[in-house]
Amino acid sequence: MTEYYETIIVGGGPAGSSCAWKLNQQGKELVILDKQSFPRLKLCAGWITSRVMEKLEFTPEDYPHSILQLKTKMYVAPFPFSFGRCPTRWTDYSIRRIEFDRWLLQRSHAPVITHHVKHIEKRRERYIIDGKYECKYLVGAGGTGCPVRRTFFPHQRVQKKQIATLEKEFEYPQPDNTAYFFLFYSGLRGYSWYVPKRDGYVNIGLGGFSSYFKKSGINIHQHFQWFLKDLSERGLLDEQTAQDLKVSGYSYYLYGNQGKIKQDNCFLIGDSAGLASVDLGEGIAPAIESGLLAAGEILGDCQYKKNAISHFSLNRFWQWMIEPWLLKILEV
Ligand SMILES: Cc1cc2nc3c(=O)[nH]c(=O)nc-3n(C[C@H](O)[C@H](O)[C@H](O)COP(=O)(O)OP(=O)(O)OC[C@H]3O[C@@H](n4cnc5c(N)ncnc54)[C@H](O)[C@@H]3O)c2cc1C
Repeated sequence: MTEYYETIIVGGGPAGSSCAWKLNQQGKELVILDKQSFPRLKLCAGWITSRVMEKLEFTPEDYPHSILQLKTKMYVAPFPFSFGRCPTRWTDYSIRRIEFDRWLLQRSHAPVITHHVKHIEKRRERYIIDGKYECKYLVGAGGTGCPVRRTFFPHQRVQKKQIATLEKEFEYPQPDNTAYFFLFYSGLRGYSWYVPKRDGYVNIGLGGFSSYFKKSGINIHQHFQWFLKDLSERGLLDEQTAQDLKVSGYSYYLYGNQGKIKQDNCFLIGDSAGLASVDLGEGIAPAIESGLLAAGEILGDCQYKKNAISHFSLNRFWQWMIEPWLLKILEV
């Protein structure tokens, strides 16, 4: 015997919970299956733009956890100074993912079952998950390693779009609300960040194209050491903290035109579809946008298409400054 739901969403991160939020508003029958129970750790700088709030219809005042409006400073090598204006198209904020993802999930009012999805098959018009759950619409929101993707979208990912990262979030006294982005430092094809949170936390990390690390022979950990040294020299991190830091890594994919994200009644959203913005690797907003769009198609309101999801975070000035470089290395 299987449990039937009209829609099953695999993964309760921002993509899955946004999709559920919209479907639930229309009284649709659905369930989210996530292998972890929330709150759960998600490696992420926790920088969000105001478009996240616009899409999900809330304001910073509505958000009950730590949220900080950021003053964003962007440094681009080889220039030693920062460029004064906010580099993104929106207002920048920081949140902590451990709080944010749980809140989004609760706000969706969707039923959630802790279940590690392993096996999925399609029988006639139905999807069967681990012989236990059955649905008409299946939404893959399980991040980079999503089992829905593995099963129904087995094509190769575009390796050039793969981003490798290292990061750590920890308590550290913050002088103010300045976030720093360092693009292309020490030759890195990517950038490093320092994102303060309200309540004395900070997230520091680094991300770059996996192909760059492979080709250059420079290990991501080596880059991270250079970055820590730089932060110490700038007075942003004391040396002892830098020495003791234990970082973790994760990889995800930037937006590209290749590959389907929908087939029959099966959808890929968020990181499972590879949708992060091509300039700053912003993944939360595209995860939310894609979740809402997929829900829109299930509701019969719109079509779920990749090109409806915005894939630039920088404003036009910055796009003009670095786009030629990006297009060259992405070969698009
Ligand atoms: C180090 C790092 C820093 C980043 N910083 C930023 C940033 O500052 N701002 C930004 O916008 N983006 C950032 N990103 C990208 C952003 O984190 C992702 O794009 C975003 O989390 C995607 O959301 P999602 O809902 O698709 O996936 P996720 O948030 O990864 O959620 C996927 C969920 O699926 C569940 N799941 C996985 N497999 C299964 C399974 N087999 N069965 C059941 N459940 C399963 C997982 O438990 C998880 O809860 C960063 C990424 C990294 C790695």
